[in-house]
Amino acid sequence: MNLIDSKLDLDNDTYKTLLESTRAIPWKIDWATMQFAYIGPQIEALLGWEQSSWQTVQDWADRIHAEDRDWTVNFCVAQSKAGADHEADYRALKKNGDYTWIRDVVHVVRKENGEVDSLIGFMFDISERKRTEEQLAGLRRELEELSFKDGLTGVANRRRFDIVMETEWNNACRTKQPVSLLMLDIDCFKQYNDHYGHLEGDQCLKRVAKLLTVAAARPRDFVARFGGEEFIVLMPNTNESDAYKIASRCRELIAGEHIPHDGSDVSKYLTASIGLCTITPECGDEVRAFIEMADRKMYHAKQRGRNTIVNE
Ligand code: GH3
Ligand code: MG
Ligand code: MG
Repeated sequence: MNLIDSKLDLDNDTYKTLLESTRAIPWKIDWATMQFAYIGPQIEALLGWEQSSWQTVQDWADRIHAEDRDWTVNFCVAQSKAGADHEADYRALKKNGDYTWIRDVVHVVRKENGEVDSLIGFMFDISERKRTEEQLAGLRRELEELSFKDGLTGVANRRRFDIVMETEWNNACRTKQPVSLLMLDIDCFKQYNDHYGHLEGDQCLKRVAKLLTVAAARPRDFVARFGGEEFIVLMPNTNESDAYKIASRCRELIAGEHIPHDGSDVSKYLTASIGLCTITPECGDEVRAFIEMADRKMYHAKQRGRNTIVNE
């Protein structure tokens, strides 16, 4: 050993002091026995469990949140067997019953013959980071609500509809032009979800939204998701008979798409019920009453057996 090497070399005591004074918690597991060969004493300050209580891999697995346990254990075992260094985030159980987010960073130590000898690693307390991530996710959701686009289908959301409706309503009052409104609700959609699953349900909503934008494609036609499985099409400067043609197209495009719907009481394919109304508003008329009228007509379409348009 030359002079430089010996200067850089640390004795075991110094290594130990270094390892045990960091915030990350070092540990070692012997692969043959699946026992802890070592864990830093800092573990007690983080989780409350005494250093001596970490004996076997089972102690570690038992102190993982039930929802994270299978995934974490299976993943770590598979990676270790494959000899791959890895890391896993999970919630660790504290002695007081709370959970805290841990990131385990694992290095696989091999023998000369290539067999796994042991695992060594560090546990990091990442609870602060997880809290920040959760806050960010919450903010993202809020932002989506505040924005104008429906996150699932990509058509306008309710908030945007309210604004556009108000503008077009005032415009129609001023210009004395008719305005038409179509309220569409998918038939037996609860059964669709029950039968095909919520994710398929989501895909279906996307398809319906797309079809509506095809059916109502004039520049001022405006399609929005009104809520759940309800859509609305606002048609400015559109009289009753033109609006009816567009409504028929909406209904036919959906039925013609032949989206299987085994749970439906109406048809073996997906269908929708439509309420349609047209008005030339007078100044002072309530836009809300107009929307409620479209809603009532849609409801009548349901009562009349669904897959139909009610406009009178
Ligand atoms: P009806 O023919 O009378 O309209 O019956 P329906 O089952 O369509 O109506 P109901 O109001 O009972 O159920 C609407 C269903 O729409 C229930 C709800 O879970 C589902 N839904 C609402 N929003 C979404 C969504 O974003 N995705 C999925 N997949 N389903 C949704
Ligand atoms: Mg509905
Ligand atoms: Mg419905």
